[in-house]
Order: sequence, then structure tokens, then C-alpha cells
Amino acid sequence: MSDHQTQTGAGRVGQVKEITSLSNPVIKDIRALSMKKHRDETGTFLAEGLKLVIDAIELSWAIRTLIYAKGQRGKAQVEKIAALTVARGGLVLEVTDKVLTAITRRDNPQAVIAVFESRVTALDAVRLKPDETWVALDRVRDPGNLGTIIRTADAAGAAGVMLIGDTVDPFSTETVRATMGSIFAVPLVRTSEKEFLAWSKKTSPLLVGSHLKGSVDYRTIGYKGQPVVLLMGNEQAGLPETLADACGKLARIPQAGRADSLNLAIATGVMLFEARRHCLDLGDPAP
Ligand code: SAM
Repeated sequence: MSDHQTQTGAGRVGQVKEITSLSNPVIKDIRALSMKKHRDETGTFLAEGLKLVIDAIELSWAIRTLIYAKGQRGKAQVEKIAALTVARGGLVLEVTDKVLTAITRRDNPQAVIAVFESRVTALDAVRLKPDETWVALDRVRDPGNLGTIIRTADAAGAAGVMLIGDTVDPFSTETVRATMGSIFAVPLVRTSEKEFLAWSKKTSPLLVGSHLKGSVDYRTIGYKGQPVVLLMGNEQAGLPETLADACGKLARIPQAGRADSLNLAIATGVMLFEARRHCLDLGDPAP
């Protein structure tokens, strides 16, 4: 491992470690972030791509390590985030393509990746406001579905996503990739079913369960004027009775054709954009 100084318009800003060996202990630690156990122990996760890293830093996520490919040295944006990383007490690593491929386990890795401290919001800290919409997911299992839902929640202007029970890790590399950066923009809450039920009883949002046997068409619900929580069921089992019974409304998305149900992420998108349409003044559609 060798050191050199980053040189930016702002002058000398900090040390960069050059690493070429996969057996370097820092690289071993970063590679171990592919395992949930290591993410949980360190409270950190990996995000890939220059834009994502810039967005995360702008949104004040704590960066622990910035890693970039040797070929990126001297590029203005990379030098800028390297300087910011050092200023915030993080480590900056300049590595070979082989090291980046090993960390990301991809043949064509992103040239810039970073380790961030993970962040979740406590359920008790959520202050519901009228006309905001939360998505609550019961035991979501699929990382791609969760990432897509977080991305969709961001695009629809949802207040955040609540994860109920034993769910897939929102900070797994696959989920973070699927969020396309929205992981940094959407508040995430983790809770148990018991805690969620007690909280919704106490705070009384309009709790809308999305259910194949829902008694009302999702388009006929009056979402406006109150906080709304859209409760979505698990991919295999759907909503359990314990959660369905707590809902003020059980909503159905009418389907044609032979499919039994919609994919969870698609159903969430349909529900969410309808609820948001009621709450936002989006103006008239363009002619
Ligand atoms: N076999 C499961 C069941 O019986 O509910 C299917 C679960 S579906 C793949 C995952 C979730 O997406 C459901 O629990 C529900 O919240 C939502 N969903 C899918 N299709 C829906 C529809 N047509 N109407 C309302 N919700 C739907």
C-alpha cells in the first residue's frame, strides 16, 4: 500500500491510499460487506456509482470509505468527493480494476464506490402529517422488489417506507442497486408487527391494506386530508389476518386476464401513485 496526496483546486486535502492487493485487510473488510452479518456488525453498507455517492454526500450520509479506480485520478468530481470524504474523517482508496471487480463481484464494476453508515428512523420518531403517504411492507423477501419499491416511493413523493417483521436487508448490495440512489432519499423504518399495530392504533392514520380479496376498489378511497399508510402483503403469503384486521380499508386493484395477482412492487406502485394523485395538486394533464 502506498500513499499520495490528493491535489484539488482547494489545495492539498488529504491522503489517498493506493491498494493493488486483494489480501489487503481493508479490502477484505469491504468485501465482507456482501454479508449481512458484517453489515449489521459494522452498521455500514456499500453503494456503487459516482452519481449515487455524490447524492449521498449531498444528503449528509456519513461516508466511511471512498474507493475509486486508478483511471479516475485527477477527475474533478472524484477529487471533490475525495476531499469531502477526507474532510469528514473518511478514508480514500485508489484501487486497481481487479480490486473493484472483487469488491463488487461484477465484471464491469462502477469506477467509484463507497462505504456509508446505514441509517434507519425509529417508528416512534415518525410524526404523521395530513396528505403524506407511507408504504408499509409486511415481511418483504425479495431484494429487487424492495429496491424497486424504495425507488418508486421516492418518485411518488411518499414520506417513507416501513419494513414490518423479518424482511430482506434494505442495505444489501442488490437492494441498494435496485433503488438507483433512492435509498439515500427515502426514510426507512424497521419495526415488528406488534410494534406497528400498537403504533397505528395510537397514531390513527388511514391504514389501507392492499389485498386480493379487498372489499373496495383502490380508486374509490378518500385518501385526501389525512396521513395514509399503504400496507402491502408478503410476496407469497399476502397480508396475514392480524394486519388485515387492523386496516380501515382493504383495497383491491381490479385485474383482467389470468394472473392471480400483481407483483408486489407493481401493486405498490399502482396503489401509491393513486394515493398521491389524491393528495397532490398535480395540475391538469397536458393536452
Ligand atoms: N398469494 C399472495 C396472496 O394471496 O395475497 C399474493 C401476494 S402478491 C404477489 C403481493 C402483495 O401485492 C399482496 O399481498 C397485495 O398487498 C399486493 N397485490 C398484488 N395484487 C393485488 C391486487 N390485485 N389487489 C390488491 N393488492 C394486490
